[in-house]
Parts: sequence; structure tokens; C-alpha cells
Amino acid sequence: MFGEKSASSKVDNAKEALSDCHKPYIESPSFEAKTSSYLIFRYGEPNLLFFCIVSAGVGIALFIIGSELQSRITFFLGIPFLLLAAIFYQARDYYLSRICKKCGREFAYVQTRKPVVYDDWSQTIKITSYYRCRYCGHKYMETKSAISAYVP
Ligand SMILES: [Zn+2]
Repeated sequence: MFGEKSASSKVDNAKEALSDCHKPYIESPSFEAKTSSYLIFRYGEPNLLFFCIVSAGVGIALFIIGSELQSRITFFLGIPFLLLAAIFYQARDYYLSRICKKCGREFAYVQTRKPVVYDDWSQTIKITSYYRCRYCGHKYMETKSAISAYVP
């Protein structure tokens, strides 16, 4: 029957989420997750760090050379390299944040509820994410600081 298998696995996922917490939150596969797994499986984590540093270096060098030579083309050529550096950085960051702290498996953590954003009206906000390992069930909470757009 069409969709029978996916429907039953959906039910299993929902049951799993319900048993874990009162408000199930199932994260949809994001662009970040897809790029991260693609880049990690293709190049590996140490290479991503290397690519990130190299792209950032080339981008900054092009900015400096462009402004020294008053060459707008050279200057703007630096932008794609900085964007690449940001993508590599994000992909590596995502990968590292999803390694289970208990069983060590990769891309193991799934979010169990929506991240909580704490804004204390300063320039930084704190985002707390709640994860659970899909293999061993280890629960993990991570708080990150981010720069807020709000300027006092
Ligand atoms: Zn685990």
C-alpha cells in the first residue's frame, strides 16, 4: 500500500516524542542539517575547519588588497570567500553540537522542544536548546549566546 511504511514510522516517531516530554517538538530537517551532513561525510570535520580558516583568510586578504589597490572588483571578490567561511563554520558547529555526549555517535541529538530564547535587553541573547540522543536517549541542554539586533 502506498505510504504504509512511512505512516507507521511516523506513528512510532510521534509515540517516541510523546513518551519523552509533554510537548513534543519534532524538528524539521533544516538546510543547516543537510549541508552539515553532506560536508562532514564528504570532507570530514578537520578539513571543514581548515576550509573555513582558508576561505576566511582569502576573503580578508582580498578585502585588504582591494582597499590597498583601490580595486572594487578585488574587494567584492572577498565576499563569496567570507560567505563560504561562514557556511563551513556553521556546518562544523552544527556537527559538533549534535555529537552525543554519552555514546559519542554523530548526528545523534534531535531537538525535543523548541529552543527557549532569553532576552535580558542587553546586546546578547541566550538561546537554550533541548536535545535527546536518538540512539541512547541521553538528554542534553545547551545554552548559546548570540548578539541581539537590539542596541540600547
Ligand atoms: Zn547517545
